[in-house]
Order: sequence, then structure tokens, then C-alpha cells
Amino acid sequence: MSRVVSILLVDDASDIRSLLCRILEQAGYADIRAVGSAEEALAELSFRPADVVLLDLFLPGMDGISLCQALKADRTLHRILVLAISARSDGHPLERAFEAGAIDFIRKPIDRIELLARLRSALRLKEEMDRTRDRERDLLETAAGLRHANQALERLSMLDGLTGIPNRRSFDLFFDSERRRCQRFGRPLGLLIADIDEFKAYNDTLGHPAGDVCLRQVARTLVSLARRPTDLVARYGGEEFGIILGETDAVGARAIARAARDAVVSLEILHPHSPHGIVTISLGVAASTDEVSGRTLIDRADAALYRAKRAGRNQFSEAALPLGTDV
Ligand code: GH3
Ligand code: MG
Ligand code: MG
Repeated sequence: MSRVVSILLVDDASDIRSLLCRILEQAGYADIRAVGSAEEALAELSFRPADVVLLDLFLPGMDGISLCQALKADRTLHRILVLAISARSDGHPLERAFEAGAIDFIRKPIDRIELLARLRSALRLKEEMDRTRDRERDLLETAAGLRHANQALERLSMLDGLTGIPNRRSFDLFFDSERRRCQRFGRPLGLLIADIDEFKAYNDTLGHPAGDVCLRQVARTLVSLARRPTDLVARYGGEEFGIILGETDAVGARAIARAARDAVVSLEILHPHSPHGIVTISLGVAASTDEVSGRTLIDRADAALYRAKRAGRNQFSEAALPLGTDV
């Protein structure tokens, strides 16, 4: 042990206490306390714990076995090494001392070599046990740290760095599961693709940082419009947003598209190169209760977005539906 080993001697015979003290001091142990009873030992240890207790099993009042049990039951004292001092190396008291948690024993009459050897090996064992415990604690801490880091990474990998809303990866995962769920239960699924109008010109005239701010504002606005558990607003591409509307038919999807268009207009973000003088979005709307593939729904929304752009922007357009489809 690198630090000073603290030893408490518990023996009602003062000559044994003196002898033990002398041997231990001569061997270089510097922190030795000695008491004559179990009660005094408890008081002394509660005042300041020790590394080792050399414990006479036969004591007036509370006996050594009971003291040993009391130490092992105490949360702050249970790691103290107990070496039982016994007149005999066999028999019942010693057996009970081991049961109570003693780690080794020292025979009376005290033999210096044996005492020091047993004490040294007990201390080595304790050192090893402490090291193992520290290693286990370190491992647990590392594992907990890794778990947290993984959760943080998982969250980050699902969010868009610029706007803080779900990214394309989240969109793909959510869209796939929501589409399957809605189709399985014959429920409608709505999809909007929103694209900021003339955004290249916005960046070119006001600068990329201003473009970033604008993207964040639009993202926040869209997120505030689709808040059901079956909705997801994600950054789909550069200045495009995908809005998944589970359990939502064409009528509902149209309503959200209109609200989104109006909400972005209400932001009144100045845009010198827009015919409206402010930032606007165009949207493509698609909705289905059919067995359509995810790709088909996205293609329909994309085609509708293209039509909205061609028709003059700041508006939404709805996907042309296959004949006979009723949504
Ligand atoms: P349209 O009305 O037809 O949609 O025209 P547009 O200019 O918006 O479309 P275009 O696809 O030509 O340009 C998209 C622009 O979006 C170009 C690109 O620099 C910008 N953009 C994409 N991602 C970001 C981003 O993260 N930050 C900023 N500031 N701009 C971005
Ligand atoms: Mg655009
Ligand atoms: Mg675009």
C-alpha cells in the first residue's frame, strides 16, 4: 500500500496490545491505535475508519464475532480487513469468525514473523480487491458514457445540423414506416414537398448566411404547422422540406399546404428578387389510401411541385391522380 496503513488493535489484554504495537511499529507501521473492547472499537472506527482490525475473539461485553458482524453490516466500515486473534487455530470460534467475515487469523501466543506475514498478505489482497473494484467502477462509468454518447450521436444523425429539424434520413425512415402502417390499416397518407421560391437569387443578393437564417425561419414555421404524432417535417434537400402527414387525406393535406404557404408569407422575409418582394414557398401535394409505393407518392408530390412552380410559385398544386382513384 502506498499510503499509510491504519491499524486498530482490539484486545482486552494490555500486554498483548503492547506486544502487537511494538512488533508493528518496529515493522514500520506508523498509524496504530489500540482499544480494549468491541464497544470502544466501534466508537474509534466511527470517528475514523481503519484499513485493518486485529481482533481478539474473546472480549468482555460485546465479543469479537459480534464486532466483526457489525463491521461487515456497516456500509462505511464493511471493507475493513478483520484478522482474528485466537489462542487456537482450529475449533468453533475461529470458524464463526470466518463466517462473520474475518479474512485470516493470528495465533496466540503471537509469533512476530507469522503476524507480519499474514498482515502483509491480507493487505495485498485488499489492495487487489480495491483495484478490481476501481476497475469495475471505471468500466461502468465508461459504459455509461458510451451509452450517452451513442444516444447523442443517434439523435444527431437524425437531425439536420442547420435547422435542427429531422433530416433526410429521418424522413426516409418515418415515411417508410408511416406508409406501411397507413396502408395496412387502410388509412390515408398525405405528403407535401415544399420548396423555397427563388432561393438562389436570395442567397446571391443577400448572402449565404442570410439564406441560412431564412431556412431556419421557414423550417420552424413548417414544424409548427404539423404537430400530430403521425406528422413529420424534415429538411428534404437544400431548400426543400418534406412534410409527412399520416392519417391525412387529400383534403387535410391541401389544408396544411395552404396554411404552410400563408404562414411563410406572414413571415414577411424581404426578398429583393421575388415578384412578391418577400420569401415564398411552393408546394406539391400528394395523398393516397391506395397501395402505392413510397417512390410513387414522392414522384407525384414532386411533379405537383413542378407544376406549382410553373404556375407562378407561392402556391400549391396537387398530384394528378390515376383515373378512378378517389381520395
Ligand atoms: P425555384 O424558385 O425554382 O425553386 O428556384 P431556386 O433558386 O429556389 O432553386 P435552385 O434549385 O436554383 O436554388 C436552390 C438554392 O438553394 C441554391 C442553393 O445555394 C440554396 N441552398 C441550398 N441549401 C442551402 C443552405 O443550406 N443554405 C443556404 N444559404 N442556401 C442553400
Ligand atoms: Mg427553390
Ligand atoms: Mg429546390
